Amino acid sequence: MVNNKMYELGTKKSTIRTIFEFGRQRAAEVGEENVYDFSLGNPNVPTPNFIKEAAIDILNNMQPAAIHGYTVAPGNPQVRKALADSINNRFGMDITEKNLFITAGAAASITICFKALSQPDDEYITFAPFFPEYRAFVESVGGKLVVVPAQPEDWQIDFAAFEKLITTHTKAVIVNSPNNPSGAVYSEATIKKLAEILKAKEEEYHHPIFIVADEPYREIAFEGYDVPYIPKYYANTLVCYSYSKSFSLPGERIGYIVVPNRVADFGKVYGAIAGAARVLTHVNAPSLWQLVVGRCANMPSDISTYVKNGQLLYQGLIEAGFECVKPQGAFYLFPKCLEEDDYAFCERAKKYDLLLVPGTDFGCPGYFRAAYCIKTETIEKSLPLFKKLAAEYK
Ligand code: PLP
Repeated sequence: MVNNKMYELGTKKSTIRTIFEFGRQRAAEVGEENVYDFSLGNPNVPTPNFIKEAAIDILNNMQPAAIHGYTVAPGNPQVRKALADSINNRFGMDITEKNLFITAGAAASITICFKALSQPDDEYITFAPFFPEYRAFVESVGGKLVVVPAQPEDWQIDFAAFEKLITTHTKAVIVNSPNNPSGAVYSEATIKKLAEILKAKEEEYHHPIFIVADEPYREIAFEGYDVPYIPKYYANTLVCYSYSKSFSLPGERIGYIVVPNRVADFGKVYGAIAGAARVLTHVNAPSLWQLVVGRCANMPSDISTYVKNGQLLYQGLIEAGFECVKPQGAFYLFPKCLEEDDYAFCERAKKYDLLLVPGTDFGCPGYFRAAYCIKTETIEKSLPLFKKLAAEYK
């Protein structure tokens, strides 16, 4: 009677959600301050004042129709122009409002891109560890998600494994940097090598292979780590950006897709993006929030809390005896579990009210994710508990 796949997606809770809900229940029993919930990637840095001020000013001073009315589907043209100018200034690009499609965040951007590109038998490659929603997004358009095994030494790309998995069916490669869950930033060398391999494959197969660059964490890159702007290295790149993390606006649902002119068959790709958005009932991204981000396009993100939290948790875990790659960006650590079974390990951590997410959910068994977008005091208080947990394995 109903679509079984949709029923399954709508009723089967993700592990992250289940752990988060367990945390809420424990908080009611033992008190909020005694639960160390590293499960969710909800930014804890307050939304910047300039965002609130822009929203208030727009609400008080602009015409209601501009604030609350429909916009054209790709988004308010002046806002797109402001965003395009900002991208050009920051990354040396040469785009206009015609290269931008404003969306309700990165999840919408990615799903729209997949829907726009998909043809029967398409494959989408992702690198483990990866954001679990990719599977739902790819499968929702009838595609197949192909996972490249991880390179745990540094969480960059295992190119030998990658090359073996590219086929004539590969439609796109999903690149998420800074990465959720590993906290790695793909280096310029990694992006250059990726571009080189894909260009060679495009020539061999005589058709484009796209990069879908999922970039909600672009601004959260720590000192010494630059995030290469992928369209500068590889022509067939679609950038999916979001303000959820950079301006702590996950609930407002606002972001965009960049489709540079250099993308093969630009007009068709942009047109298909508009069509995909249409059938996915996008209509237009929230009008008020388009105006707000348009005004604040050049404002900086405050990442100081994530820098502090990342260093604190990393140091604490290393001292407790964990193996972990130093965080380079985003707000996640992805350390090795102290036993092979990551589910058993995370279950044992619960004894100390340490709520961690098993790596299997990200395509990487034997690891766990700790989201450190939480209060610094919570991390400080959690460190002796990580030590106690580690002592159980000595
Ligand atoms: N991609 C990654 C890697 C994420 O971590 C998230 C959210 O956590 C998203 C996409 C979705 O972000 P948005 O809120 O912009 O839809």
